[in-house]
Amino acid sequence: MKKTRRQGAKATPKANAAEAAENANDDVTERIRTTLANAIGEGALKPGTKILEDAIADHFGVSRTVVRGALGVLESDHLLERKRNRGTFVAEPGIEEAKALFEARRKIESAILELVMARVTPEQLDALGRLADEEEHIHHHGDEKSKIVLSGKFHIVLAELGGNPVMTEMLSKIVARLSLVMALYEEEKQDDCGADHHRLIISALKDKDVAKAQELMDHHLADIEGRVRLTEGQGDRHTFMAVLENFS
Ligand SMILES: [Zn+2]
Repeated sequence: MKKTRRQGAKATPKANAAEAAENANDDVTERIRTTLANAIGEGALKPGTKILEDAIADHFGVSRTVVRGALGVLESDHLLERKRNRGTFVAEPGIEEAKALFEARRKIESAILELVMARVTPEQLDALGRLADEEEHIHHHGDEKSKIVLSGKFHIVLAELGGNPVMTEMLSKIVARLSLVMALYEEEKQDDCGADHHRLIISALKDKDVAKAQELMDHHLADIEGRVRLTEGQGDRHTFMAVLENFS
């Protein structure tokens, strides 16, 4: 029963049918990738959780080969790690990796602020201010999930205003990996990124004072880094299928 669709696609002689099947596989690979990346980023899949390939294959109605394609992408992004003869797990970044990620983030965000300063419009800064307001509102009234989703958003939107998609992608990947660091090592869970800090950064940009904005950003990121204690940690584990249900 499960195999019907694949056999059907294979049996069709037309080349465009084969191409359509391939495109469908690409789409589902991307859906699996984003489902897992979101679940990891939002803390629903904790570091060290085993990835159940057959559960994913069943859930999305695809072969394990397709699942492995999606897992391979997440592996090269350092969000998953394959352990010999044991399978694939949500990555557990070590202490050195965590330090390198924080350092890379500080450098990149500082460089991003220079790019932003050179090209941002007052309207864009107003929009960024509204995002900070939204963060504050969700901090006080939102549910857990929306709080976590929003926490890195300000930084990514800011990066986009810098107009360099390579830098934005680099930062997105670092922020995603740091969500694993926070899950493993954060001492006191805090559900916001600090809307107050964000507003101060925006106001320095409005004053065209990039050095001030960079200083505030450094302070803000040091504050986040200060929440973690880089020693062995452990996260609680959620039921795998329930997570797949929630995030796809
Ligand atoms: Zn922040």
